[in-house]
Amino acid sequence: MNGFRNWMSQFMIGRYGMDQLNRFIMYLALALVIIGLFVHVRILTWITIVLLIIMYCRSFSRSIYKRQQENMKYLQLKQKFTGKGSGNTGGPTRQDRKAAKQGKRLLICPYCKEKLRVPVGAGKIKIRCPHCKQEFEEIV
Ligand SMILES: [Zn+2]
Repeated sequence: MNGFRNWMSQFMIGRYGMDQLNRFIMYLALALVIIGLFVHVRILTWITIVLLIIMYCRSFSRSIYKRQQENMKYLQLKQKFTGKGSGNTGGPTRQDRKAAKQGKRLLICPYCKEKLRVPVGAGKIKIRCPHCKQEFEEIV
């Protein structure tokens, strides 16, 4: 068993692994499996298999950059549908543009959803939310 775990961690070196898009594909496949229990349509099985193949191909992929781009697109799409997110994807709002003029950017605190203004171009910074006192990291 230990040997297998070693082999597995060796195998995963330089490979992409799981991300939000893969998790979404996994849930989708799972949902289709459950639907398939009630509705006997052969195409559902095929779609499930294809989804799982895509998921495995993505997690074992060595083209990490490409996979990250896919994941980014998925997150942007998801944000469009749900209207949620940390505020660093999607189009700029009026407040975003106003902040950009002052050399700052609007961020949404992931804990309390308050809007924060942060300086642009500082790289990865630790932000302490003045409202809820929680800390989080963001690249600006
Ligand atoms: Zn906060």
